[in-house]
Amino acid sequence: MLRPLVKYGAHGLHAPAAPVVDFGDELQTLIDDMIETMYAAPGIGLAAPQIGVPLQVCVIDLSSGKRGGEVLALVNPQFVERDGMQLEEEGCLSVPGFSATVPRPARVIVRARDRHGAERTVEGTGLLARALQHEIDHLEGRLFLDRLRGVKRDIIVRKIKKLQRSGKW
Ligand SMILES: [Zn+2]
Repeated sequence: MLRPLVKYGAHGLHAPAAPVVDFGDELQTLIDDMIETMYAAPGIGLAAPQIGVPLQVCVIDLSSGKRGGEVLALVNPQFVERDGMQLEEEGCLSVPGFSATVPRPARVIVRARDRHGAERTVEGTGLLARALQHEIDHLEGRLFLDRLRGVKRDIIVRKIKKLQRSGKW
């Protein structure tokens, strides 16, 4: 089932999410819905707070569903290692219409549970490293805008506030 996406300003996007303790049917439905919602957007990653669910769950598929079997569903992910630096343009389904160049580590190792609760480790470089960090930021209540230097961030936030005031956000 498609779930509605929430946008910048929604409280849950700016607060840390809680760890998952129950790997039952509700979590399975949540993950299926998140994958469907990510593909429909389309996007390459989605975190549960983006559909208003305050849990540490994210899905990533760099092909956005175009290649089979590439979707990653991560529950309670934590960084084990982060190194290097990359600078690339980044956007977010919760901040539609805006993008910015965001500095991120070039390589990460993440430890997480899979959808059934089994422990797994994921190593990512390049775009996958960026997607992992972007989604884990969501689980900590951070958006890519919060990674920008003051002035760059302020310009985008001012534009969003203007859209909010005119009811176009
Ligand atoms: Zn995002």
